[in-house]
Amino acid sequence: MANVKEITDLIEGLNKKDEELIKKAYDFAEHAHQGQKRLSGELYFTHVFETAKTLARLGMDIQTIVAGLLHDVLEDTKITEEEMKKEFGEKIVFLVNGVTKLGKLKYHGHERHVESLRKFFVAITNDLRVVIIKFADRLHNLHTLQFLPEEKQKRIATESIEVYAPLANRLGMGKLKGEIEDAAFPFAYPKEYKQTEEIIKEEKDLYEKNLEEIHRELEKELKKNNVKVIEIDYRMKHKYSLWKKLLKREMDIEKVHDIIALRIVVENIEDCYRVLGIIHSIWKPLPGRIKDYIAVPKPNGYRSIHTTIFTGSGGVAEIQVRTKKMHEEAAYGIAAHFAYKEKKQKIGSDEKSNFKWIQELKDFNYELSEPQKYLEHLKTDFFNDRIFIFTPKGDVIDLPEDSSPIDFAYSIHTDIGSHTAGAKVNGKIAPILSTLKNGDIVEIIIKKDAHPSSKWLEYAKTNHAKKDIRSYLEKNSLLSKLKSFGRS
Ligand code: MN
Repeated sequence: MANVKEITDLIEGLNKKDEELIKKAYDFAEHAHQGQKRLSGELYFTHVFETAKTLARLGMDIQTIVAGLLHDVLEDTKITEEEMKKEFGEKIVFLVNGVTKLGKLKYHGHERHVESLRKFFVAITNDLRVVIIKFADRLHNLHTLQFLPEEKQKRIATESIEVYAPLANRLGMGKLKGEIEDAAFPFAYPKEYKQTEEIIKEEKDLYEKNLEEIHRELEKELKKNNVKVIEIDYRMKHKYSLWKKLLKREMDIEKVHDIIALRIVVENIEDCYRVLGIIHSIWKPLPGRIKDYIAVPKPNGYRSIHTTIFTGSGGVAEIQVRTKKMHEEAAYGIAAHFAYKEKKQKIGSDEKSNFKWIQELKDFNYELSEPQKYLEHLKTDFFNDRIFIFTPKGDVIDLPEDSSPIDFAYSIHTDIGSHTAGAKVNGKIAPILSTLKNGDIVEIIIKKDAHPSSKWLEYAKTNHAKKDIRSYLEKNSLLSKLKSFGRS
């Protein structure tokens, strides 16, 4: 049986007034949903209770947790908006209405998919907390998916993987993203799920044993060097992301180095680099696998240092080093900005500019007749795995995987893109129609008389570049037609 203490215990430093507000919302929701049951046979109230618990676990502010408890009251009970406003105020009603509106859309292939994404973006720019409540709501629905008809299971699971998880990831909420994907995985791709489970079962023990040894030796060495360690733990890669990685590596588990990673949390950034030095003085790093996401964070804000080492006993292992703050940010992402403890309820202008892409998405015009195109645009330009490319001056441009120097050129400026004559990658002349790798330094050589050709379209990855190339080609063919017309 549910108990309000399960929620309030999760909130650090909860004051009396807020505790009472949560109790009030708890009783209100329990009463409103009285007699209603879920398909699982459980009380309907269990669902809103679990939703609120997830929000408390994410460290969300009180309004969000209260709205989580009340999120299905307006839609599924006799309680009116007026009544709720009287009891809980306008802001809570706004949040609950936002969640209800988001829920109205169902995923039925591409067209609805696009529409539901657009609704999300509008909600995000209005009040991001609405989306976080929706994530928590969805997570519990996924955990009780087995009670739904098969067709519905598949639809909800697929939508979760294609819409919810990428968004959670883009908002930096790594923990929630992993939980959503893993809950949806068996329903969206049952066969692949089983296959992944088998692989994990076979390899897990070996990897764990391996890391235990590294753990012991490292701890000893860190102590000797007086590095204060806050926490060392293992994390098992989430099943769905492991499967995606296996796909990229010909299903060869030997080629996936981070099934289990050792995580070291230290006090400050200097210590992160010290620890990296200590690690490399004990074990040889794998070339090309040292990633400094502290100096160059991922586009979603993720920071940490990763390195993969030869363990000495024939295997390799990934180690991640970060500060406590980075550790929390990696798990909670943007939700951390609404933390109860910090009493912050609005995103400051700083954070808002970090999420400029949300505004861009909202404004992005698309033809309703071409939802497929909109979706492609989203998938490649916003949700795909990204690589970082450097200008010779050290500025970072982030691009989708497999981008070419042309994409790089266009993302600096359209004029540079359309006059690209050649490229230097890491100091060497390279074809402009080649594939860039993470960390490449790229210099674009421009010439006044250089111009796009239709071949460029085949190699451009970003829609930005494709659009500019296409518009150049169209203008040009029109021009040449006009010229030949004038001549004849
Ligand atoms: Mn719900």
